[in-house]
Amino acid sequence: MGELWTIIDHEGGEVRKVSGEMLTAARRFAGEMNLDPAAVFAGTGFEHARERIGKFGGGKVYVAESEEFDRYLLQPQIDTIASLVRERKPSVVLFASVADGKDVASGVASKVGTGVVADVVDLEAQGERLVCTKAVFGGATVTKCQVEGSPQIICVKPNSFAAEQAPGEVVEERVDVTLSDDAKRARIVERVQQEAGGRPAVEEAAVIVSGGRGLQGPENFRIVEDLADALGAAVGASRAAVDAGWYPHQNQVGQTGKTVSPQLYIAVGISGAIQHRAGMQTSKTIVAINKDGEAPIFQLADFGLVGDLFKVVPALADEIRKRKGR
Ligand SMILES: Cc1cc2nc3c(=O)[nH]c(=O)nc-3n(C[C@H](O)[C@H](O)[C@H](O)COP(=O)(O)OP(=O)(O)OC[C@H]3O[C@@H](n4cnc5c(N)ncnc54)[C@H](O)[C@@H]3O)c2cc1C
Repeated sequence: MGELWTIIDHEGGEVRKVSGEMLTAARRFAGEMNLDPAAVFAGTGFEHARERIGKFGGGKVYVAESEEFDRYLLQPQIDTIASLVRERKPSVVLFASVADGKDVASGVASKVGTGVVADVVDLEAQGERLVCTKAVFGGATVTKCQVEGSPQIICVKPNSFAAEQAPGEVVEERVDVTLSDDAKRARIVERVQQEAGGRPAVEEAAVIVSGGRGLQGPENFRIVEDLADALGAAVGASRAAVDAGWYPHQNQVGQTGKTVSPQLYIAVGISGAIQHRAGMQTSKTIVAINKDGEAPIFQLADFGLVGDLFKVVPALADEIRKRKGR
């Protein structure tokens, strides 16, 4: 029986949320496509990751564990996964559609001579193929496409599938890691830990509250942060707000920022320019708060609130806290 692989997205064995989502999707589609689900762990810290992988189904895990992965950029991962693909010939390989995941996926695809579809927000099994849903042309169109080659390499965006636990035993299969001199050409010389802060990262969050130029100044972002904290959400920003220096670029959503696909996206004082929509229009539920009832964001919103954000947003945060009993 062929295999459907999930490449575990992790940092030193700390498994990211998207991996649970992919393992859940992998179980479902492997069942529908008559494939065996299996996972691939490349990096360090497998003992730490094992428990989390077990929570989402367990099963066969190819473990390529070596300190070497931490010393160099992504080429060692590309080479290791590509040679495993050549040897085991899986039918489907799922990567997380995050910066590193997309880099490794495209490197593996070019080495084994197959195609890759990135930024996928939904999948449907049709016979032996997975039909992928993704936004294209700067978010102007949502399209369906599939990889014709083998394996089908697909990068799944965080929050595209709900993670459902299904505890299972992990059956570890160790993979030899032998790196060529070519794989060692780009070495990591320093790591700088980004300040984590108390909120989830924009690209991983299930709920995002984003602020735009309607906030009128950096000090007013605290209104957006307050609503985000009431919801346990991440804070996003439009480019207008970022360019004005009101919020860091790492929080920018849109064509030249992050593309996100949370369960809930709340746009506060954002007009809804095409470049902003490109980064958030695949969100499951979109709420827009804007004083201009004609703002383009309302064409996209599932729920629209026409009003002054300085009144609406604090009232909303208060009500949410009240209902949560905080
Ligand atoms: C190549 C390129 C790439 C780009 N990439 C991005 C990108 O990645 N992300 C991005 O966001 N943009 C991007 N842009 C910029 C984009 O075109 C818009 O300029 C930008 O998104 C506008 O940001 P905004 O909605 O915050 O501001 P505005 O368009 O000025 O909208 C502000 C909104 O706030 C509302 N408002 C004002 N006061 C209040 C109030 N008191 N209460 C409620 N509502 C209020 C207004 O009605 C208005 O709709 C890009 C542009 C280009 C050319």
